[in-house]
Amino acid sequence: MNLSTKILIALALGIVAGLELGVEGAEFVKTWIAPLGTIFMNLIKMVIVPLVFSSLVMGVCGLGDVKKLGRIGIKTVGLYLVTTAFAIALGITLGILVEPGVGLQLSTEGLTASAKAAPPIMKVIIDIFPSNALQAMVKANMLQIIVFSLFVGVGIVSVGEKAEALKDTINGLAEVSYKMVAMIMSVAPIGVFGLITPVVAVNGPAVLLPLLKVVVAIYVGCLLHALVVYGGLIKFFGDGNPVAFFKGIIPASLMAFSSCSSGGTLPLTMECLRKMGISKSISSFIIPLGATINMDGTAVYQGICALFVAQIYGVDLNAGQYMTIMLTGTLASIGTAGVPGAGFIMLTMILTSLGLPLEGSALIAGIDRILDMPRTSVNVTGDGAVCCIVDKSERAHEEA
Ligand code: ASP
Repeated sequence: MNLSTKILIALALGIVAGLELGVEGAEFVKTWIAPLGTIFMNLIKMVIVPLVFSSLVMGVCGLGDVKKLGRIGIKTVGLYLVTTAFAIALGITLGILVEPGVGLQLSTEGLTASAKAAPPIMKVIIDIFPSNALQAMVKANMLQIIVFSLFVGVGIVSVGEKAEALKDTINGLAEVSYKMVAMIMSVAPIGVFGLITPVVAVNGPAVLLPLLKVVVAIYVGCLLHALVVYGGLIKFFGDGNPVAFFKGIIPASLMAFSSCSSGGTLPLTMECLRKMGISKSISSFIIPLGATINMDGTAVYQGICALFVAQIYGVDLNAGQYMTIMLTGTLASIGTAGVPGAGFIMLTMILTSLGLPLEGSALIAGIDRILDMPRTSVNVTGDGAVCCIVDKSERAHEEA
């Protein structure tokens, strides 16, 4: 039995166990089942920093030329932006069609929410550059680690012979990190079971039913985006076989679904792409970047939720406000960290820019974990799709 099947079975068992145990069994689940998921996530997180650093440095060494790096960077960021804009447009469209907030009579009394202010753009840019590489690693700050690794890689290539020993050491670290990921992944089904059971136990049908429309809209939106946009991209700009792509990436998508963390799924995403034959030098750059800035599932969610809140309060949005959702939604999804619940915090930023009451988002807060699952899964699948397209285009470039 392959890993994807085992993870799927674990997911199904987790859902059944969660429904069976319910809120009454929550204490048991928290004490005995949830730790399996926490230990698994800790193991995965343990390997992220050495993995990203070493594989990115080796990636740059493998490219051997800074011009190529620039070209890949532009293609990657361009694709990330375009797919995100599609995602948010899809979210808005579904919000208009499904009308998830219309007729909802929910009292928001007693619910409070606070807005997250958008940081000044200059601060965002400054924060990409680490003043202390070790601190960036200790804090697992992905963008800063990417910048440092790029510098080390370019440095090694420029120095040449004298840096041979350092290069060999980092290569050793990369190989050991890949091995560690493979070892940890062999227990992924147990981890997935431990992650999903507590979520289902506390989010039973009673919690979900009143908000069913918004839940369904987000699940459908995420599925549509993955099938149409990524399927289409792979079909027309990738190797032409979307089924093979989805089959290859599914362990990472399922892991993202259970863990709600693109950052935490990163090692597995890289492993899946490696197995699909994607060049390591490309995936080691594109995936850590994507896990930080590319959040299409979050964009779908933000589009739908913005409309959901507007509809609850009977606010008719005008064309300018739709543009605001497109723009702030794209920026918010870039600014969303690849950790559980981050997209919800950024949602408050969009609501503020639309002048909508924040209490509306408090309705979503209660079920956000359920909405985080499909969006994180799409976030990760999107990183993989862009990686396949850029890999294909780089191969074509080399052959030309
Ligand atoms: N949990 C998502 C992720 O890790 C981010 C979000 O909350 O939307 O990709």
